[in-house]
Amino acid sequence: MAEVLTPDICVIGGGSGGLSVAAAAAAFGVSCVLIERGKMGGDCLNTGCVPSKALLAAAKRAALAHGAQAFGVHATVDVNFAKVREHVQRVIAAIAPNDSVERFSGLGVQVIKGEAKFKDRRTVAVGNIYEIRARRFVIATGSQPSVPPIPGLDQGPYFTNDTIFDLAERPRHLVIIGAGSIGLEMAQGFRRLGSEVTVLEQATPLARDDPEAAAIVLTQLEREGVVVRSGVQVTGVDYIAHSAMVTFSGPDGEGKAEGSHLLVATGRKPASDALDLDAAGIAHDRGGIVVKKNLKTTNSRVYTIGDAAAGQLQFTHAANYHAGLVIRNALFRLPVRASNDAVPWVTFTDPELAQAGLTEAQARERKIKIRILRWPYHDNDRAQTERLTHGHIKVITTRKGRILGVTIVGAEAGELIALWVLAIAQKLNIRALTGIVLPYPTLSEIGKRAAIDFFTPSLTSPMLRRIIGWLRIFG
Ligand SMILES: Cc1cc2nc3c(=O)[nH]c(=O)nc-3n(C[C@H](O)[C@H](O)[C@H](O)COP(=O)(O)OP(=O)(O)OC[C@H]3O[C@@H](n4cnc5c(N)ncnc54)[C@H](O)[C@@H]3O)c2cc1C
Repeated sequence: MAEVLTPDICVIGGGSGGLSVAAAAAAFGVSCVLIERGKMGGDCLNTGCVPSKALLAAAKRAALAHGAQAFGVHATVDVNFAKVREHVQRVIAAIAPNDSVERFSGLGVQVIKGEAKFKDRRTVAVGNIYEIRARRFVIATGSQPSVPPIPGLDQGPYFTNDTIFDLAERPRHLVIIGAGSIGLEMAQGFRRLGSEVTVLEQATPLARDDPEAAAIVLTQLEREGVVVRSGVQVTGVDYIAHSAMVTFSGPDGEGKAEGSHLLVATGRKPASDALDLDAAGIAHDRGGIVVKKNLKTTNSRVYTIGDAAAGQLQFTHAANYHAGLVIRNALFRLPVRASNDAVPWVTFTDPELAQAGLTEAQARERKIKIRILRWPYHDNDRAQTERLTHGHIKVITTRKGRILGVTIVGAEAGELIALWVLAIAQKLNIRALTGIVLPYPTLSEIGKRAAIDFFTPSLTSPMLRRIIGWLRIFG
């Protein structure tokens, strides 16, 4: 006989979203059961954000050493890939206690290790050991690599993000299928650590991003020796001896890329197959579990958050944002509305590419009359001292100056975007950014310089033009 549990909230999935819901529920003294079938921390900690950023950090050290000569410093670079892997695993281990069963049990959450499956509209079973009848369920089961049906692909070994961070030796030549954020981050990371890298993309690399900014990232990758073939369709994979021969067709006809290792980074699909959603009356499609604006599913007792929810952006901070909305709605009955417009994103290549609010293309699609303000990194003194002069900020405002969106491509873009996330969330006018005093010399000054640009064209008085000039120099 299964043990029956009746908590207020039952969370399925102990990754970014699920852990946030469970921690908040515990903090408010609400009884909570959390079910996790794999490693606590989910994708982000074990096979996603954390290992990828740790690998990129190692790669950056190698690139800095290579580039040190321009500063008058000579360094030799010797990458020990096994040690890089050790570094990645140590970073995961350092963060893991925050997400552990021990920590969550200590907070008062009942953690069950096992696979959850709906029995009916209000019951979830874990094997035949537990039956959970909760007041509310939160599905936070995340996503998994979506591997396309390429002829021959499954006849040999290929990597996805689930396995690539276990590699103990450096690939001689890594072929990557897919040039989204994950594919390009890995391309630069492995290239900087000494692998040859070829990326094959059927459409446009970084297609969701501002094309001008994406082009700057791609140019840098190519400068570093990454070969990127866009607009090519992979038609087959042959595993010959110790290599993978990938064939593709594109605008220039047929082509081949031979790699010692193959990484498939062609997107993500929801990981909800094991849940038996139909038993609970929860609608789902290929994009994920169908949710309303308040993240409730077609079964009003059940929410879905994070990567498993259809139509949502797939990021850790999006899953955390969803968790906050669900807590407000489920515990305090407050009305909530999830919006992708509130979710920034960053591609952690070098230069980084960060987006908050609308891209220029999205603003134009919405037929908004906009102003575009820019400032290049090369006109920033700190960027010059650091020799980090590639990139720019692009701010999109309404004609009256309300900030709608910001794209930053360049050094530290992922950090610099924070100010603009606040500005957009608070519906600030660009004027607010012109008055602040920022420390000199910092990269953050590029934002203020772009903001000042808003007032330039409307000024006809020579005196005012002189003031603007003065602000540019001293502001
Ligand atoms: C290589 C890579 C790099 C990334 N980098 C970034 C980044 O830099 N920044 C960023 O914001 N995002 C990044 N992401 C995305 C980020 O990892 C995800 O958006 C985030 O983990 C989603 O959180 P989640 O809670 O929806 O799912 P997850 O964190 O994946 O958690 C889902 C959990 O549910 C469990 N589960 C699934 N089914 C069941 C079941 N039936 N029963 C019990 N448990 C179940 C799984 O085992 C898993 O632990 C990256 C992803 C990848 C792959």
